[in-house]
Amino acid sequence: MNLEILLATSNNHKLEEFRRILAPHGITLYGMSDLNMPPLDVDENGDSYFKNAQIKLLALRKLTSLPILADDSGLELEAFPNLLGLHTSRYASQFKDQKEANESIIKLYENNFALKRDATFKCALCFSLNEGDLRYFDGKMPGFIAKNATYERGFGYDPIFISKEKSLCVASLKNEEKDAISHRGKACKKLLTYLKIKGLIK
Ligand code: IMP
Repeated sequence: MNLEILLATSNNHKLEEFRRILAPHGITLYGMSDLNMPPLDVDENGDSYFKNAQIKLLALRKLTSLPILADDSGLELEAFPNLLGLHTSRYASQFKDQKEANESIIKLYENNFALKRDATFKCALCFSLNEGDLRYFDGKMPGFIAKNATYERGFGYDPIFISKEKSLCVASLKNEEKDAISHRGKACKKLLTYLKIKGLIK
């Protein structure tokens, strides 16, 4: 049994992680470029991760009859509640590269020992089997902002994020270790349970 799904993203890092998590369950995940589709041109101006995932999904629903998975994610900093969150990718785009964005976050906490370093990665998924069908799943990964970055694996803000569950920087985890505890991995687990109940995968 094989289920084909189109992922509503042009972010290859996210595509790779979703493939890693879903492929063992008989799911073939296509990126938009695999189907020669141009990157999505939508305003992610929703007031929640779910809304933004839904905006991406509905933009694609007009273009394909395949099942679609859309996601939105962000990093929330307890000490700076309005800085990242829904604007997480926009925040990084002000900098030369992700590394500079990561260093800017580390600097926010330097010499300010009273600031709580607690942070949470959040992921919202919106899935549509066909027109008119919309399902939502979410996942969280609690942790802390590191004092120093670790550049080993991963992407985005992984190098500055310490997982609470593992007490290690996410960028130092093996792929399967990250997937078992990540916001994306946890949301996908809920999606997989749903797909099993529907008899769409084994
Ligand atoms: P979006 O979901 O495409 O809007 O991206 C949200 C932002 O969060 C991007 O800047 C990503 O780099 C970052 N992000 C999302 N998930 C992860 C992750 O698993 N590790 C590191 N950064 C992430």
